[in-house]
Parts: sequence; structure tokens; C-alpha cells
Amino acid sequence: MKTKDNVFSNSDITVTYNPCACTHADHCAKELSNVFQNSVIPWIDLEGAPTKKIIRQVKKCPSGALSFHYNKKEKKVA
Ligand code: SF4
Repeated sequence: MKTKDNVFSNSDITVTYNPCACTHADHCAKELSNVFQNSVIPWIDLEGAPTKKIIRQVKKCPSGALSFHYNKKEKKVA
């Protein structure tokens, strides 16, 4: 997993976190604690759950602090 400040990627998606928008209601940490962990750094571990589950949780973020996009698949040149 690549980690750059508040940008987190696995092989499928990239999740971004905007701390200024976060209302700290802990929805994400309570509902998908294998991915969103308050007590460790980096606090988002995209290896902690299947991508579909992570996307579902990101969409539930009430403040819009979490967002995601699908990674572009790089074409391999033979
Ligand atoms: S669900 Fe969104 S607003 Fe709530 S703690 Fe997580 S990032 Fe912050």
C-alpha cells in the first residue's frame, strides 16, 4: 500500500482524506475498524477489507472528508 499524507492507495482505488472537513463522528472507525483505525499511523489501511466494502464506507462519510477514485490501470509494454 502506498501512503502519501492523506492519500491512500491499494491496487484498485485511491482514498483521500481531508482532515479539515472531518467531523470526527467516527462513523468510519466504528463501522469498518480494520481499515479506519484511530490509534495507529497511517490511520487508513486499505488492505484491511475488500475494496467494495471500503468504497461503501467512504460513501457513508457524512462530511465528505473521505473520497475515492479508481486507479487507472497502467498498460504494460512488452
Ligand atoms: S466518517 Fe468521515 S467525518 Fe466521520 S470520522 Fe470518518 S472521515 Fe471523519
